[in-house]
Amino acid sequence: MALSQNLAPSGRNAVVVVHGGAGAVDRTKLTPAREREARAKLEQALKAGYKAIADGGNSLDAVVAAVKVLEDASIYNSGRGSCLTRNGKIEMDAAIMDGTTLAAGAVASITCVKNPVTAARAVMEHTHHVLLVGAGANSFARKIAPTAGLKIVEAEYFKTAHAEQNLKHYLEAEAEAKKRGGKRPSGLTTGSSQCDVQEERHEEPLGKKYGTVGAVAVDKQGHVAAATSTGGTVGKEPGRVGDTPIIGAGTYADDETCAFSATGEGEHFIRGSVGHEVSALIRHLGLTVAQAAERVVSVTLARTAGDGGLILVDANGNYAMRYNTLGMYRGVIFEDGSVKTAIYNE
Ligand code: ASP
Repeated sequence: MALSQNLAPSGRNAVVVVHGGAGAVDRTKLTPAREREARAKLEQALKAGYKAIADGGNSLDAVVAAVKVLEDASIYNSGRGSCLTRNGKIEMDAAIMDGTTLAAGAVASITCVKNPVTAARAVMEHTHHVLLVGAGANSFARKIAPTAGLKIVEAEYFKTAHAEQNLKHYLEAEAEAKKRGGKRPSGLTTGSSQCDVQEERHEEPLGKKYGTVGAVAVDKQGHVAAATSTGGTVGKEPGRVGDTPIIGAGTYADDETCAFSATGEGEHFIRGSVGHEVSALIRHLGLTVAQAAERVVSVTLARTAGDGGLILVDANGNYAMRYNTLGMYRGVIFEDGSVKTAIYNE
């Protein structure tokens, strides 16, 4: 496993941090044009989050604004462009958490909302529940759409040729691995070092298919929030729910510790309760966000050999980005509006 670094230490306060998935991002298959496209979307998301706060919004408004940009960008695995279940369907998961009140909302296996992060926010703001799934999540979304401003779209809106091709290659790689008695491919949309086939063919032809998206933000009042949105993993079983909508696994926020969003093999993040673990490390051991991020990647995730990455920000604008994969699409915007994006260790 390759170790990761933050973007160059800045000593500056972050306002919004985003990720667009972690995995075996192969430099040789990422053309300069595709890299530019990926980074441009990260930058657009960061600026949307920053603007939400500059316009008087709070950290929740910022993470929603940032995640919506990435959900709408079909190159990422969330909203339009989400990856497919093994029977070729879209089932999306999303979550949001408010670090001030610990209010949280999430949806799983949702299929009809253009921006699943807005459905997660509606669960938080219009119900006394935290997580709605499947048919119940869809019917709640349809019902609340006019009040909460959700956009309802047909399932076809989300499907892209890339996602279909990705599924085809995944299923081929899986069949080949089975024949050879090897490990099945991981299904991470950014590719994975655990794919036990000659070549990671489910990722290779795409190049411009990235991962799950997430954002963490801190506003002028020092309140933090986190949001994550995903199509899940390629070729997943229908009904499979990953870490993204599980509060305390893939998404978490607490003003007293940090806001957190994860990407990677969700099953490992659920088993390690990674989001809550990182918060507990800060609370109980007094670790910084960078130290806590390092600890959960090198200890918690390593225990079950999980691949992935995470972003964090605390109430003072200290941030961290850690991953144990070859790369993670990521970026940060600082108080002065300057932006940095990165994919590999750089
Ligand atoms: N964590 C997501 C899931 O397991 C996948 C990803 O981050 O790429 O659903």
